[in-house]
Amino acid sequence: MTKVRTLKLPSGVAVPVLGQGTWMMAEDPAKRADEIAALRLGLDLGLTLIDTAEMYGEGASEALVGEAIAGRRDEVFLVSKVLPSHAGRRAAMGACEASLRRLRTDRIDLYLLHWRGGTPLAETIDAFEALIRDGKIGLWGVSNFDPADMAELAALPGGQAVATNQVLYNLTRRGIEFDLLPECRRHVLPVMAYSPIEQGRMLRHPTLTAIAARHGATPAQIGLAWVLRQEGVITIPKAGRVAHIRDNRAALDLRLEPADLAELDRAFPPPRSPRPLEML
Ligand code: NAP
Repeated sequence: MTKVRTLKLPSGVAVPVLGQGTWMMAEDPAKRADEIAALRLGLDLGLTLIDTAEMYGEGASEALVGEAIAGRRDEVFLVSKVLPSHAGRRAAMGACEASLRRLRTDRIDLYLLHWRGGTPLAETIDAFEALIRDGKIGLWGVSNFDPADMAELAALPGGQAVATNQVLYNLTRRGIEFDLLPECRRHVLPVMAYSPIEQGRMLRHPTLTAIAARHGATPAQIGLAWVLRQEGVITIPKAGRVAHIRDNRAALDLRLEPADLAELDRAFPPPRSPRPLEML
């Protein structure tokens, strides 16, 4: 197995290109032990970036992450998100404190605005900067920002410190290739692709299953390898089972051939014009 590839955030911090998502974890008590085991195995295998949010299970997902990383905090690059309704200066302080308590830690490495709401961006940047000064977060970023949102952000004082934009991206959701992805590359800003296997919905697609069979791989691995082949992209599949974690880790070692890529382009055509940013 090769080492997990890393990329550098604009601040110079290196993070693994393959991390672990946690949306919909902690929803079923019967799955809890498996979910914690999956996250811990992920850390063992080098998938040390963990993505969560105060929204997930109204904090239950953060609490599960806190349990999974207990005693291993320093191995983890921890990402969480603040709701737009908490993106004002005072509310963000309280929301971050609550997340830290649930995560059982004193710092979040990267804190994202989950999506854009009514709070002026300048106020949210201000709140993030205060949280950095207090040592509660290391870096800040955004999620579900379209190119116009990104341009607005970059024009604000302090806006250039954004560390990433986390957006929906997979074979069935290629809209960002037209504008957002090249634009982020131009600014050397990594994109964090969420729902990289479309929450499992794309896994029975005949093109994916055929390419998977040729590689002796699974359709999920083909979908992940396709996202991961691109420069400047991090991805965070969610896996609540150890078998899926092993599968996903192995996707990093899979090389898609030009013929595979051409076939995938025919089955999942790239965008030819701008499309509104999709969200899940
Ligand atoms: P996803 O990662 O595309 O898919 C997760 C689903 O795929 C789960 O049902 C999982 O099953 C299954 N799976 C994982 N690995 C598999 C494998 N190797 N083979 C077969 N099935 C596999 O969807 P997602 O959870 O929506 O997205 C990933 C993460 O991105 C989230 O968990 C969250 O952290 C983040 N996210 C962010 C936003 C945002 O607005 N910023 C929105 C959506 C998601 P098991 O759990 O049973 O293993």
